[in-house]
Amino acid sequence: MRKPLQLTLCLTHDCTLRCRYCYAGRKYAHAMSRETAERGMDIGLAEAARTGRGVDLSFFGGEPLMEWELLQHCYDYLKQRAAEQGVRVRFGITTNGTLLTRDRLEWLAERDFLVGLSIDGSPAMHNQNRCHADGRGSHAEVAAALELIQQFPSLRCKIICVVNPANHHLLVEGMQWLHTHHHGNIGLNFDFWSKWSDAQFDSLKAQLEQLQQLILESYRCGQPMRIANFEDKIRNALLPPGKSCAQCRIGEQELAVSVDGNFFPCSRLVGEGDNPELTFGHVNTGIDRARQHLIISQRGNTTPECKVCSVRHRCMNSCGCSNYAGSGYFNRVSPFLCNLEQTLILLADNLVEQLYQEQNETLFRLFTLPSQ
Ligand code: SF4
Ligand code: SF4
Repeated sequence: MRKPLQLTLCLTHDCTLRCRYCYAGRKYAHAMSRETAERGMDIGLAEAARTGRGVDLSFFGGEPLMEWELLQHCYDYLKQRAAEQGVRVRFGITTNGTLLTRDRLEWLAERDFLVGLSIDGSPAMHNQNRCHADGRGSHAEVAAALELIQQFPSLRCKIICVVNPANHHLLVEGMQWLHTHHHGNIGLNFDFWSKWSDAQFDSLKAQLEQLQQLILESYRCGQPMRIANFEDKIRNALLPPGKSCAQCRIGEQELAVSVDGNFFPCSRLVGEGDNPELTFGHVNTGIDRARQHLIISQRGNTTPECKVCSVRHRCMNSCGCSNYAGSGYFNRVSPFLCNLEQTLILLADNLVEQLYQEQNETLFRLFTLPSQ
């Protein structure tokens, strides 16, 4: 079965926060209209049906909970349209947590939403970047939202933690805090838009080495720290030789709609919503196939070093948006991405080797390993 179309609606340019690393552009009161949302969903649905896919609709912003009624309307609209057309749909939201309430969580849980909560670990790590317009940190509010989420055990939730040059030195304490307050998945989103100096990368590497030790201990205690970046590397080591883990489908399996209705090849590239280099059509005129094919033709990876690299199938060297952020091209890796991937792969392999030698039960429970 083909993977679903990742359809994203950016419901508003507004946000309750002013995170220092925000790549979603200027914040102001400007929401998507119902008509734009409906046309975006109709085109997404038609695209999914045309390519034999389901639809995963995700709400993004700014802060999408600032447009709660519009979000509810979109849910009803797509649910009904998809049922009429026999297309399978699932729903998700990425939120900063400041507007989450018990009632809203109940509503999301009943509809099986995947809630992506942005929280950057401990108070010190989080408040470094995730602040209000007056500079106040937002950790206390988001921690309260995380606590509320724990009261909905059936709710699908993932933690999104952004790591950038300003907060990376607090990564270990940040993950310790999260592990104490949340036992599910934690995804580290490394900031590829920022310039990382060599000294900053070395310090990040030292943090990742310490984090690997923490993960190791957590497996030994039977309460694994679930860092997706490490687990992905473990899983893709188990794929058949030559099979690549991260096939980026930018512009094909991903369709993001800006507040004003422009189509983008990935939600992380929407920004202000008006970069002509990245758009490929509009909800009023449909997908611009020539532009779409141009973007698709620029995917992949042309970096010469990668072609002969022994870990190329386990590396996210073809992630179009990470490459674009780091190098300005969809198909060229940045030195930071390369260094980071090599570090993560090495640490993940070393982790598995140690746990495997110990015949660690948690490792065998979470991963299907050969000759257990
Ligand atoms: S919560 Fe998200 S959209 Fe709002 S400022 Fe922070 S990163 Fe940007
Ligand atoms: S680790 Fe570096 S050289 Fe190897 S495939 Fe990844 S980006 Fe390319």
